[in-house]
Amino acid sequence: MTARRRRRAPPEPEYQPGQLLDWRDSSHWSDRPLPCRYCGFPAHTRDSRMKPAHKVCAEEALTIQAAEAQAAYHQEGTK
Ligand SMILES: [Zn+2]
Repeated sequence: MTARRRRRAPPEPEYQPGQLLDWRDSSHWSDRPLPCRYCGFPAHTRDSRMKPAHKVCAEEALTIQAAEAQAAYHQEGTK
């Protein structure tokens, strides 16, 4: 039986694009498009440090950072 491994809900995907950050606040919006710090294309949106960045680009960067941090943590743990 595999019942022990079953959970009530199917596993959620770890990351869903567009749902990580909440930039609906007006402080994340500028009327003046500036090159995104990640991809270089014009962006109206600003990240938490007020740098021009697309939300999806910032989320992707966060995801990569999180994965790297997790990888580093696992490496530390096995030493
Ligand atoms: Zn971008």
